[in-house]
Amino acid sequence: MSAKDWVTPAVAAMHAYPVAQLPQNALRLSDMECPQDIDPTLRQAWLERLDKVAMNRYPRPGDDQIDAHLRRLFDVPDACPLIYGNGSDELIQIILMAVAQPGRTVLAPAPTFVMYQVCAEMLGMNYVGVPLSTPDFALNEQAMLKAIVEHQPAVIFLADPNNPTGNALDSDAVRNIIEAAPGLVVLDEAYGAYASHSNATMAQAYDNVVVIRTLSKIGYAGLRFGYAFGADDWIDAFAKVKPPYNINVLTLASVDFALEHDDFIRAQTAMICRERTRMLSAYQMLEGIEVWPSAANFLLLRIANAAKIYAALIEQNIWVKKLDGVHPLLRDCLRVTISNAEDNDRCFAAIKMFLEA
Ligand SMILES: *Cc1c(COP(=O)(O)O)cnc(C)c1O
Repeated sequence: MSAKDWVTPAVAAMHAYPVAQLPQNALRLSDMECPQDIDPTLRQAWLERLDKVAMNRYPRPGDDQIDAHLRRLFDVPDACPLIYGNGSDELIQIILMAVAQPGRTVLAPAPTFVMYQVCAEMLGMNYVGVPLSTPDFALNEQAMLKAIVEHQPAVIFLADPNNPTGNALDSDAVRNIIEAAPGLVVLDEAYGAYASHSNATMAQAYDNVVVIRTLSKIGYAGLRFGYAFGADDWIDAFAKVKPPYNINVLTLASVDFALEHDDFIRAQTAMICRERTRMLSAYQMLEGIEVWPSAANFLLLRIANAAKIYAALIEQNIWVKKLDGVHPLLRDCLRVTISNAEDNDRCFAAIKMFLEA
């Protein structure tokens, strides 16, 4: 008897999430990390905070102080209960574990964040992706509504702004999908800090809506901290599924510290938004590139021979995300994280040189 006699067919069919092992000193523009680590002037104070943490004690399951920071800084409605995850990845898993049954369907637009499909299939659920509209990657509202009637999905995931396309979703379309949904609608705001609107009020207004967010894309990918809020009944169910002590004491102390010093978060996200504007115009002026406006901290580029450019960038130790081949709508596409001016210029110059060669 070995693992293969027992591992479920769904797990056997999976591929491990490809985490690239980037060389040291790589220019990392593949995963929407922020360029700057914790503010050097705050580092000592942070270490002193960690020094006070009791390592022999289990963490508290929730944290009033972190809740208060999240509500104040990120407009989480007071009426909505909160729950934490190890990144929003864990929240996606928890949400699906609460509803998973064979024969049930998870629905999302396509292309979108891959973990929805990975988790759904791992748990033995069906997954349906409804293609986004071209050329702007807007939700195809009619197709979504039709798929909802046909598949009666237990959960619908809408990433707003969407990854990997970068666009924000139309609020009326989102509302119509929520009203048509027989089950839960998860609004994934991983990139909400870079967008001009949020869906927080939807989580309060509808009893079938949960919003999930993360600190990963606003400077703290290493902490692995995400949170969800929304309808009481749903959050209560997730609290039962969640491992009781999922967020460790060092993370909780660090998150509390990071949110207390939110000036640093705001300064970095503001810098990235300025850089996004600058780089959008720069790429728009290049011959042979199509680039889409973005409400997130990355740009989606379409370039002929994207796979060759991808390889040429790696030669220079510049790592972006190759999306060519992932979905028909992403033919010849690369996704480039927006970083600081120096990083952005280096990547831009390398792409420009390739195009002019
Ligand atoms: C990156 C990302 C996440 C997951 O981020 P975590 O690091 O697990 O918090 C979730 N949703 C979308 C759309 C993402 O792009």
